[in-house]
Amino acid sequence: MSAEYELQVLNPATEEVVATVPAAGVADVDAAVARAAAAQTRWAALSPADRARLLRRFAVAVDEHLEELAGLEVREAGHTVGNARWEAGNVRDLLDYAAGGVERLTGRQIPVAGGLDVTILEPLGVVGVIAPWNFPMPIAAWGAAPALAAGNAVLLKPAETTPLTALRLAELALEAGLPEGLFQVLPGHGPVAGDALVEHPGVAKIVFTGSTAVGKQVLAKGSALLKRVTLELGGKSPNIVFADADLKAAVDPFSFLDNSGQDCCARTRILVQETVYDEVSALLADALAAVVVGDPADEKTQMGPLISRHQLDRVRGYVPEDAPALRGTAPEGPGFWFPPTVLTGERPDSVAAREEIFGPVAVLLPFTDEQDAIRLANETPYGLSGSIWTRDVGRALRVSQGVRAGNLSVNSHSSVRYWTPFGGFKQSGLGRELGPDALTAFTETKNVFISTEGPAQ
Ligand code: NAD
Repeated sequence: MSAEYELQVLNPATEEVVATVPAAGVADVDAAVARAAAAQTRWAALSPADRARLLRRFAVAVDEHLEELAGLEVREAGHTVGNARWEAGNVRDLLDYAAGGVERLTGRQIPVAGGLDVTILEPLGVVGVIAPWNFPMPIAAWGAAPALAAGNAVLLKPAETTPLTALRLAELALEAGLPEGLFQVLPGHGPVAGDALVEHPGVAKIVFTGSTAVGKQVLAKGSALLKRVTLELGGKSPNIVFADADLKAAVDPFSFLDNSGQDCCARTRILVQETVYDEVSALLADALAAVVVGDPADEKTQMGPLISRHQLDRVRGYVPEDAPALRGTAPEGPGFWFPPTVLTGERPDSVAAREEIFGPVAVLLPFTDEQDAIRLANETPYGLSGSIWTRDVGRALRVSQGVRAGNLSVNSHSSVRYWTPFGGFKQSGLGRELGPDALTAFTETKNVFISTEGPAQ
């Protein structure tokens, strides 16, 4: 790779340089696409059983290096070590799941007169995966694993701040026996290496996860080539808490503090029925005070730093020092630290209540009744996820139907399982990832009609 410029990877907990990585330029992307196209032809020609076997070996290699990968994620992204282990395990599990799909990727046989009609699901070719820094490993794998399983080659462009786990995953893929060139990582700047992937005619599909602003640019540029594009974008998700709910579970602060709030599914609009507003407020105050914020490598730590100085400044911009809020604590000194915070004086249409902050900050807003809760939940441009807390089953279903979002959980804060579909409504995205149809999203459907007419007598 030409070292046109370098990416400096910082440890967000200490601000020390962890590594410098040569960054890919446009020529590197061109060369990578050519290598990937050649590798894809060889890969697609393998028997499905062999492709599945190699992906399972890749999963085993990830499992054998789980601690190493988790350690890298702690150092480059500041994730707590428990979360980082889960993330490496998620990559392993997704590779296994996708491997199981290789031999089940079947077309259809459709009744027609005068012959046989079948559909064949063919790989797209070369797929570009552009990943953000907040969950570098899982999000890379959400695109790469099903794309590889469906017979494609993958070029992964990790975020500028977090290239290390992606690079290690590519090495493990080679060690596991995946063909050279099939899964390549292109660390680099978004407007350079990312843009080059989007604009390259040899890249059939872009799987983009990141901000809504950049996602719109990717869609616009991709459309000029009629490129397939899926977008997983921002969120401002509601946590709707009715008075009859298990309030302590409902206001678990890790519904928005996990990964220091740098989570597209973070429940950052806590909507609470007004009759229990004070009780919820007291529960949240106690819970925030108890959150252990500190060294992410320490097993006892519950929340680490933000990813960068830029992100810290951005989050600070939403939280004036004198804003009415419930606050936890955070370390002082080097590192990008921000305390767990719940803003209590916001209006539903204020900037902090509507925009994605992407830090450990939520807003607390009262609602009157079911209709009011649905109205407030929908009052953002986003529609990624959300939680609904009530013991009334009918109400849980009505509110689930009313909230315009792709991933809802009732009496739970869970969002993403690799075997269920994931994606956003409205400005949270386009298309779905994961789940039973994940591989199909990386194929073209070819219809073939075979005549059974004999030669004219
Ligand atoms: P970002 O949009 O700044 O960057 C995302 C990726 O796009 C990076 O790899 C970046 O280098 C690349 N990029 C930047 N400019 C580009 C361009 N012009 N052309 C091509 N690629 C370009 O986002 P971020 O700050 O890294 O990530 C945070 C955002 O990601 C948040 O908005 C968050 O909600 C979102 N996100 C969404 C999901 C989801 O599944 N919906 C998951 C995680 C994160």
